[in-house]
Amino acid sequence: MFIPWSGFREMNERREAAAEPLFANPRNAAAGALRQLDPRLTAQRPLRFFAFQLQLDPSGRDRLPIRTQWDVLQQLSAWGFPVNPRNHVARNMDEVIEFIETVDHMREELDYAIDGVVAKVRDISLWPELGVIGERDPRWSIAYKFPPDLATTRLLSIEINVGRTGSLNPYAVLEPVDIGGVIVKLATLHNFEDVARKDLRAGDTVLVKRAGEVIPQVVGPVLQHRTGAEQPFVPPSECPVCGTPVERPEGEVMVYCPNGSCPARIFWGLVHFVSQDAMDIRGLGERTADQLLRTGLVRDYADLYHLTAEQLLTLDGFGAVSAGNLLASIEASKQRPLSNLLYALGIRHVGQHAAQLLAKRFVTMDALMAASEEEIAAVHGIGATTARALTAFLEEPRNRKLIERLREAGLRMDEPVERAESAALEGKTFVVTGTHRMSRKEITSFIERHGGRVTGSVSKATDFVVAGESPGSKLERARELGVAVIDEDELLAMAAEPATE
Ligand SMILES: [Zn+2]
Repeated sequence: MFIPWSGFREMNERREAAAEPLFANPRNAAAGALRQLDPRLTAQRPLRFFAFQLQLDPSGRDRLPIRTQWDVLQQLSAWGFPVNPRNHVARNMDEVIEFIETVDHMREELDYAIDGVVAKVRDISLWPELGVIGERDPRWSIAYKFPPDLATTRLLSIEINVGRTGSLNPYAVLEPVDIGGVIVKLATLHNFEDVARKDLRAGDTVLVKRAGEVIPQVVGPVLQHRTGAEQPFVPPSECPVCGTPVERPEGEVMVYCPNGSCPARIFWGLVHFVSQDAMDIRGLGERTADQLLRTGLVRDYADLYHLTAEQLLTLDGFGAVSAGNLLASIEASKQRPLSNLLYALGIRHVGQHAAQLLAKRFVTMDALMAASEEEIAAVHGIGATTARALTAFLEEPRNRKLIERLREAGLRMDEPVERAESAALEGKTFVVTGTHRMSRKEITSFIERHGGRVTGSVSKATDFVVAGESPGSKLERARELGVAVIDEDELLAMAAEPATE
C-alpha cells in the first residue's frame, strides 16, 4: 500500500492552495490515510497497492495451476489485481544481488518510495519445510533493506528565513551528518507550531530524516540525550530582518512579516518574479537581484522595465553583451500571459495552478480586478482562502499602482484564448505520457482545442492514454485498468474525423 510521488505532489499542491498543512512524505500520508476512521476520507487519498501474496488452502492450490511465487503473481495479475511490473526471477544468489543493485539504481525513477527488495524462494512446496522464525520471519522470504534514510546528529541552532510572502520559515542548522551517502547540514522545521510540538531545543540530539526528493526534516529530539543545557526556542514577535511586529492570520499556522517593504520579502519577491515559471527573465540571478535592490535601481518590479544599459554597466559582473542580453530578456518578458504575471506577483496562496485557473476564467487583468471576492471564490479549484488573499492584494492601493505601472511599461495583461477547432474529442479524458514528436504542451493544447480534457494521472475515468517513447508508470497503470492506449498518430486521426460511438 503506498502513495505515488505524483499523487503525493498533487495532493500537497491542493492542500497548499487550500491553506491546509502539507504532508511531510508519502509514507506518513499513506499511513495516515489508512488510519482514517471514515473510509470516504481514505478514498480521497491517492492510495495504490501491489498484490504479491495469495492465501490458499490445499484444495484451492490443487484447483489452481500454482506451483511457484511467479505463478502467484501471474494469477493475481490475471484476476486484475495490480502487480508490481518490476518483479524478476533470479536463478541464483548472484542474480539476486545483481537485481538488488539494479533496483537501487532505478529508485530515483520510480514513482513511489521503496526501502528495499524482498527475495523469495520460488518453489512454494519448499516453504513449509523451510519454516518461519519466531512466527514472523519466514526463511523463504527475506528483505534486503537499502541504507537507512534516518540519522541522529546535533541541532546547533534554529534560524529563520523570511520568504517572499513574508512568512517566517524556521530551519535547523545541524552538525553535518551523512544520511544514505548525502551530507545533510540543514533541515526544514515547517513552522513555529511544529517546533513547539516537537519541543526542539538548540543543543538537542535530534533524529533527522532524508528520503527521496523530500527536503531533510527533523523528526524530533532524542530526549534521553538531554543534558539540561539545551536552549528552548522562543518564536520572535518581530521580523528578524526588518523588526516589524509579526502577524498570524486567523486559521493559519504560519507567522508573517506584514511589511511590504521588508528587504527580505522584496529580495525573494524579485527572485520569484523573474523565475522561469513566472516572468522568465534570464540573466537575472540572486546576485544581480541583490545589487539592483542595494543600488536602488530597482525598488519594485515595474522598475525592471525602465533599466538602461548604462545603469547595468555600473553593476559588478556586467559587460556590454550581458547587459544587452538582460535587457532583451526583460523586453521579451512583457509578452508573458496574464497567468504568468499573476503567479509572478507573488500573491499569497496564488500558486502557478491557481494563477492559470484565474487567467483562464477572467482572461484580462481588468476583469479580474473588477471581480468580487465571491466571483473569484466561485472559480472551480479556487478556495475561499485564495479568493480572500487575492482580493486583499488587489484592493491594496500600492499594489494597484504597481499593476498600473506594469501596464504602462507595456506588459501584456491578458491570457490568450484558445478557440475550439472541433468537438471531435468532446467528453473524452486523456493522459499523455512518454516522448512524442509534439511537445507535451502542444499535445495538451491540441486535445483541448478539440474539446477533450487532459489530466495528470491515469484512473478509471481516463478514456485514452496517449503513449510515446519511454512511457513509464502511466502506461503500466493504463494496462492495469484496461484503459485504451493510443499513439500520437491515432490521436491526430481521432480529431480529424467526427466522433463515432
Ligand atoms: Zn520584515
